[in-house]
Amino acid sequence: MRPKPLEQLYEINTDTDCWEWLGYIGAKGYANYKYYGKMYKAHRFVYEKYKGKIPQGLVLDHLCKNRKCVNPEHLEAVEMVVNSRRGNAYKVTQEQVLEIIEKYKTGKYLQRELALEYGIVQTQISKIILGVSHFSFLKEIKNAAEKT
Ligand SMILES: [Zn+2]
Repeated sequence: MRPKPLEQLYEINTDTDCWEWLGYIGAKGYANYKYYGKMYKAHRFVYEKYKGKIPQGLVLDHLCKNRKCVNPEHLEAVEMVVNSRRGNAYKVTQEQVLEIIEKYKTGKYLQRELALEYGIVQTQISKIILGVSHFSFLKEIKNAAEKT
């Protein structure tokens, strides 16, 4: 049986820009793709289609933290140690988060531009701006702003 075209197997989330997999999801929450009888990790498959072969020994880190996502722009090939060190942590510091908020408030920057500048995905920028990221201090700032 011919494999289903990849493009029919994901749906683009317009809020996050994640390409959310509609096919089979494995036990750990990662997307799977069956191609001529063999199972592949869908995000690796899509990445290699658009960006070329993943160098040996490297793993793909989901910058958007969405395991179902197969958007190659949300994936970065890194060494295993880097991937585990990152864990669920953001790559930006607390100071940078505050900078991002300030810059966005000026209205001179697009979320996309800030994402590029700080090397994180737009999803994280919007979470930071909305105050829904896991930085607890962000919630405090947000609460303080709402009281005034
Ligand atoms: Zn994503």
